[in-house]
Amino acid sequence: MQDLSREYYLAHSGQKATAELQPVYEKHAPILGSEALGMVLEQFRAAAPGSEEHRGLRLLTDWLAEAQSSRVLASLDEREITWEGNAVVRLPDGREMQYQRVSIELANTPDARERHIIDKARASVVERELAPLRRERFQREREITEDLGLADNYNAAFELLSGVDLEALRAECDAFLRDTQAMWDEVLPDFLKTRLGMTPAEATRADALALFRAKEFDRYFPPASMEPSIKKQVREMGVDPVAGGRIVFDTADREGKRSRAFCAPVRVPNEVYLVMRPHGGQTDWNTFLHELGHALHFAYMRPDLPYEYRWLGDNSITESYAMLFDHLMQDAAWLKRYTELGAANLRPFRRAAGFEELHFLRRYAAKFGYEISLYGGVVGWDALPDLYTARLTGATSFRYSPADAFVDVDPRFYAARYLRAWQLQALIAETLVERFDADWWRNPRAGPWICSALLGEGQRELADEQAQRVAGKTLSFAPLVRAVTRMLE
Ligand SMILES: [Zn+2]
Repeated sequence: MQDLSREYYLAHSGQKATAELQPVYEKHAPILGSEALGMVLEQFRAAAPGSEEHRGLRLLTDWLAEAQSSRVLASLDEREITWEGNAVVRLPDGREMQYQRVSIELANTPDARERHIIDKARASVVERELAPLRRERFQREREITEDLGLADNYNAAFELLSGVDLEALRAECDAFLRDTQAMWDEVLPDFLKTRLGMTPAEATRADALALFRAKEFDRYFPPASMEPSIKKQVREMGVDPVAGGRIVFDTADREGKRSRAFCAPVRVPNEVYLVMRPHGGQTDWNTFLHELGHALHFAYMRPDLPYEYRWLGDNSITESYAMLFDHLMQDAAWLKRYTELGAANLRPFRRAAGFEELHFLRRYAAKFGYEISLYGGVVGWDALPDLYTARLTGATSFRYSPADAFVDVDPRFYAARYLRAWQLQALIAETLVERFDADWWRNPRAGPWICSALLGEGQRELADEQAQRVAGKTLSFAPLVRAVTRMLE
C-alpha cells in the first residue's frame, strides 16, 4: 500500500511521468492473490460476529476481494484512461475540443445554445466510444465478484463486506428526495433565471455545470492567504496543522502537477502529503479544506492501530472529516474571520451555498439509487440508460443524457460513502457546537478532543457506529435538511 501510494503521489504531483503500478503489484503478488483471499475468508467465516476479530477480518476480506477484480479490470481501466487523454470532440462547425477540456468549456460558455451544441457532440462521442468500455467494465466487475461466491449476488456481497445496508439507505434517499422536492422547486427557478436567464424546462446537465461555476465571490478568496489563513484556524483550534512534520504541504508550482488539490497518505500516520497548485477562488478554498480534513485524519491516527484500521475501513469516516472541514465554508462566523468576504456578502453567499448543497445531495441520492440497479442485475443492461435519465432528471430537473449512464457512476457504491459521510459530518458538527460552542473551530479545547475521539480511531468503526458513540444519534438526512433550510432563509 505504501509503494502504491508513493507511486500515485509522485505521478500526480508531477515528479514522475506515470505511476508505475504494475511492478508494485508483481513484486507483492502473493499478498493480493486468490490464495490470500481464501485464507482470510476462511478465518472471517469462522470468527464470531460482533467480535473484534470479525471486524478486522471483514475489512481484510473486503480489501482482498476488491483486489481480485481490480487486477482483472486494470487493463480496462488503462484503456479508459488512455481514451480520456486522447479523445477529441468534433463540433458541427468543424471545431475540435479535447474531451478532457469539455466540462471546463461548458462551465465557461455563457451562451446556452452553444453549450447545448458542445454537449450534444460530447454525448455522441461518449455514447460511441467510452460508454461501451465502461459498460464492459461494470459487467466484468459484477461477474468477477459474483464468481467469488461470497453471497448470492454483487449487492449482497457488498453489504456483507462493507457493513452498509443498501436498501435502507435507498429508502432514506427516496424519502429525502420527496421531502425536499418543494424546497428544490422553489429555489431552482430563481437561481436559473438570475444566473443563466433560463427556465427549468430548458435546462440540461451542461447548464448545471455553468450554473455552479462560482465566479462572483472568487475575489474574496485570494490564493495567497488561503494556506496561512486556514493553518491559522487549525492552530487556534489547538491542532498543529503539520502534525509535527508528518504532513507535508507540497504547494510549489511544478510542471505536470494536478491542478486540483489531493491528499496522498504514503505512510500512515507518519508521511502524509497535501498536494496543491493554488489558483485562488472559492473552489480552491473548498478543495483545500476538504483535503486537509483527510490529511489530519491520516496524520493523527494512533500509530498502534492495526493495518486494517489505518488503511482500510468505511471511507464514510474519512470523507466525513473532509466534509467537516469543507463545510466550514458555510459557517458565517468562520467566513467573516478567515476570508475577505464582508458582512454584506454573507447572506447571498450562504444562500448560494445552500442551493448548491441541496443540488449535490439530491443528485447523489438519485445516483446512488440508480447504481443499486446497475449492480443489482434485475434491470437489464440495455434498460439502464432510460432508468438513469429518469432518476437523475427527476431529482435535479436538469435533463440528463442516456450516454452518461455508465460514465457518471462511482464504482463500488462510493456514492453511499459520500451520503453517509454527509450525514455523519452534520452530526459531528452538532456535537462540536454542543461541546465547544458555535465557534468550536477556534476553541483550543476542541482540537485535542477531535484528535483523540475522532481522528485517532482511524477507520475502525462504521459511520453509524461512530454516530452512536460520538453523538448518541442515528445517521439521517434530518440535520442536513435543517442546515440547508437555514442557509436558504
Ligand atoms: Zn474526499
